[in-house]
Amino acid sequence: MFSRIMAEVDVKLGIRTTLARIEEAHAKRVQTIKAPKPLLVAVSKTKPVELILDGYSVGQRDFGENYVQELIEKANSAKILEQCQDIRWHFIGHLQTNKINKIVNLPNLYMIETVHNAKLAENLNKAWEKVKTDNPNKQKLNVLIQINTSGEDEKNGTEPAEATNLYRFVTEKCPNLNCHGIMTIGRFGHDYSTGPNPDFIELMKCHQDICSTFGKDPAELQVSMGMSDDFVQAIEMGSTIVRVGSSIFGARAKKHEA
Ligand SMILES: *Cc1c(COP(=O)(O)O)cnc(C)c1O
Repeated sequence: MFSRIMAEVDVKLGIRTTLARIEEAHAKRVQTIKAPKPLLVAVSKTKPVELILDGYSVGQRDFGENYVQELIEKANSAKILEQCQDIRWHFIGHLQTNKINKIVNLPNLYMIETVHNAKLAENLNKAWEKVKTDNPNKQKLNVLIQINTSGEDEKNGTEPAEATNLYRFVTEKCPNLNCHGIMTIGRFGHDYSTGPNPDFIELMKCHQDICSTFGKDPAELQVSMGMSDDFVQAIEMGSTIVRVGSSIFGARAKKHEA
């Protein structure tokens, strides 16, 4: 039963279709938003390595995972190391302090999208210092600041009102981190017939605050928002990174949901 379902998932088609929809949404986006064409992060959580190889074979390079242990296993898998040498892993889950040392040493870790407070930023900065001592050619660690735009208790992220302060802390006090921008998960199941997604509005407000406070070109501060159900709407509002899982890899088993 399991393998039959797997066989029916056409990841290659899923990647191509998603890229075409991204292209279309980007073309439609109002021209005043000067952000670059959005990056697709294919969210492969709970899905087997074979499906990642499929995606990689059609040119997909950015993959997202939100469980540390699962990312460790996939990033170190022999097949991935052999066949996906340019893969770029995005960590998109909750990162606990005691897992930091495991994650910073992973092969092809590209970005931590979920830096939600100063303490985590500080600890990542320290851990990356050690990584650089062992590998002097390493660049800075790419991060995004996670903002809790919906105010839900179970969601991580700094409060929108604190976003500028956290951005300042990371850029001024964490020399080993390269802060590319901001991200939100947001409330699930927004009804678009009632108007634009308030989480996306809130995140774009944080984007504007940070850009005006620090005199940054808005096109240069990344915005990670939008998932399978709403990445088109997110792009129309200014998203530059979309994290798409189930519409590429198929539905996930419920018990694995974060
Ligand atoms: C699982 C997950 C996604 C992808 O969700 P889909 O609805 O399957 O596209 C995106 N972002 C985060 C943080 C996730 O945990």
